[in-house]
Amino acid sequence: MLDLKKLLDGSADKVEFTVEIDNCDFVDELVNGTANAFGEITNHSGLIELNGKLEPNLSVVCARCGKVFKYKEPINLFAKITDKLANADEDEFIIMQDFAIDIDDIVRSALILELPTRYLCKEDCKGLCEKCGQDLNNGECGCNMRERDSRWDVLKDFFSDEEE
Ligand SMILES: [Zn+2]
Ligand SMILES: [Zn+2]
Repeated sequence: MLDLKKLLDGSADKVEFTVEIDNCDFVDELVNGTANAFGEITNHSGLIELNGKLEPNLSVVCARCGKVFKYKEPINLFAKITDKLANADEDEFIIMQDFAIDIDDIVRSALILELPTRYLCKEDCKGLCEKCGQDLNNGECGCNMRERDSRWDVLKDFFSDEEE
């Protein structure tokens, strides 16, 4: 828990935090990984805000070619904090308990929310040949192109679902 009493009684104008997560095993499609977060919480005339950065360092599996690669896209952390449920937009706020927030939980939740549910080693990853299994990022394999184009399979499924 991160104690915010100093911030609330005015004896500090910010409270800094760092969080290290040794094992991100709660993340989808993960081989292994850690994450670091750092930032500060400030009090501007009663408006308490958390600003920070979350740096994942993950080994993940490409959804197309199956290659394991490093994923390190930083995530901006931002949250508004309150000590009571606001009359509106309660979802936007993190609620303090005993003048403290569970910063580890906030960082974990941000990871779960902000990380993609599937990863691509690169945006135009060509994936594997469905016939021979060759990694098409390393070149064409010579199998019949028309039978291999899986983008059309997605459309085919889409239309057959529609008909049912
Ligand atoms: Zn890939
Ligand atoms: Zn092939």
